[in-house]
Amino acid sequence: LIEIKEGKVSLLVPNPKDYEKNGKFDPSWAPVFYNPRMKLNRDISVLIVSVIKPKSIIDALSASGIRGLRYYIEVGGVEKLILNDKNPLATELIRKNIEKNKVEAQITTRDANSLLYEVKAEFVDIDPFGSPSPFILSSINSVINKGYVAFTATDLSALECSSKSSARRKYDLICDKLSFSKEAGIRGLIAKVIRESAILEKAAYPVFSFYFDYYYRVVFRVESGAKKADNLLSKQGYYYECPKCGLREASEYLEKKKCPKCGIDMKKYGPAWLGTLWEKDFVEKMRDKLNDFSYLDNYFTINKLLDIIIKESKYDNPYYRIDILSSYLKRNIPKREYIIKCLGSASVTHFDYRGIKSDKGMDEVNECIKKLTS
Ligand code: SAM
Repeated sequence: LIEIKEGKVSLLVPNPKDYEKNGKFDPSWAPVFYNPRMKLNRDISVLIVSVIKPKSIIDALSASGIRGLRYYIEVGGVEKLILNDKNPLATELIRKNIEKNKVEAQITTRDANSLLYEVKAEFVDIDPFGSPSPFILSSINSVINKGYVAFTATDLSALECSSKSSARRKYDLICDKLSFSKEAGIRGLIAKVIRESAILEKAAYPVFSFYFDYYYRVVFRVESGAKKADNLLSKQGYYYECPKCGLREASEYLEKKKCPKCGIDMKKYGPAWLGTLWEKDFVEKMRDKLNDFSYLDNYFTINKLLDIIIKESKYDNPYYRIDILSSYLKRNIPKREYIIKCLGSASVTHFDYRGIKSDKGMDEVNECIKKLTS
């Protein structure tokens, strides 16, 4: 074991040196999982928990205990903390880590699904290997009315539809990979959570979503009520995109669509969530709270990310890829800020540095590209 520091927590984790193969190390090779590449995910999660201020937390897939420990120490006000992992080596390590940090917590060595049908909390964290799908129903069951559930997903090949069969298996997606696949993917995940919640007559409202590096993180407020669930279900649909000119449409139904301009089959993606990815109020509270976390190494990165998200959250339409539209038009690629200025109501997006978000249609974006490259 080695001792590391993350946020305000000192943590014992497996020494990477002991598990190297040919001088390389992957966190999944160690007996207990700790991945430094997920630090930003955890930092933002601490900020999110500081907005929610939950009295009870379940860190259902806890590994070293890092998330739950960080929420307890860096946010405070947590009266009941459950740290769970089915791997006994993990819970043994969690025990050492809670003693080290003088934290009071319940440690359980259970299958997360069976645990989540027995205990309730105001905030439930699901941070799995790969897809969160196996844990959606149980975590939604476990959260109290008006509580929150956060999911990490690292299976972007399924969600972006690079792998159609796993997209279908894990998320019921009938899909092709679209030009805005990074946003389609997070919307596919959200739609899945909304449908699973609806089974339990609960409504899962996405309050904060983001993509970074190789993963998605989405946070939901969960409210009881069949009618509310029905309302959310009605905001699912399918995206269509022409592979030749980039024209896109959204519709409630899955159909075989031809591009009205080119006459060829359009690509499709869904069921996807067509509503907002961010609740304005929630993001503003995150912005205000961020000042309390200036000690984080990622403080400036988070500040920048929130800046972009506040701008792009005005637009529910998926982003346009300026490089792709320019290539369809056989033009050079104009600078993003010029396109944004030309369109008037548009913004950058955190999903893709080549993307812009706007409430304007493709024709208007194309007009701007032409104007700027003439
Ligand atoms: N949350 C941790 C962090 O931020 O460092 C990382 C969690 S790791 C990605 C996923 C953990 O889930 C592993 O420690 C694994 O043992 C545990 N796990 C996988 N399936 C489980 C299940 N069905 N029930 C409980 N734990 C499970």
